[in-house]
Amino acid sequence: MAKEKPKILEGSISLPYRWALGPVFTRFFEELKDKKIMGTKCPKCNRVLVPARKFCPRCFEETTEWVQVSDKGTIRTWSLITFEFSGQPMPPPYISGLIDLDGTDVALSHFIGGIDLSNIEKVKDRVRIGMRVEAKWRDERQGNIHDIEYFKPV
Ligand SMILES: [Zn+2]
Repeated sequence: MAKEKPKILEGSISLPYRWALGPVFTRFFEELKDKKIMGTKCPKCNRVLVPARKFCPRCFEETTEWVQVSDKGTIRTWSLITFEFSGQPMPPPYISGLIDLDGTDVALSHFIGGIDLSNIEKVKDRVRIGMRVEAKWRDERQGNIHDIEYFKPV
């Protein structure tokens, strides 16, 4: 049997949603207004989780202790986004990264900024794993993750 081209059905789906944050995420986001990054500590494995979580995803123990962590940290990994796709937070190019904030045991996903992106070939010379960064806070904070505009090189 000759190979046929697969038939393709094209379309798009809009999926608006609302999500009740609950008490732990509500406090996490409210504390950002005061430039505080809060985590919760697992009583079993002692990991500090950021963003704060109701329970430890490794142990399934309920977290009970709140811990303020630093707004400075180290880049665990990063990616330069240069192409457009649906649902992007901003037009490319931009850098998305995982940051190990001082005092946490899990990485926070956020933007890495304060980097010249005019020549994307040179970005890899300016950003590296292990690089120290700190939060660039917005002047007007609203209690959401974008109160931190990005993490910039220290
Ligand atoms: Zn745990």
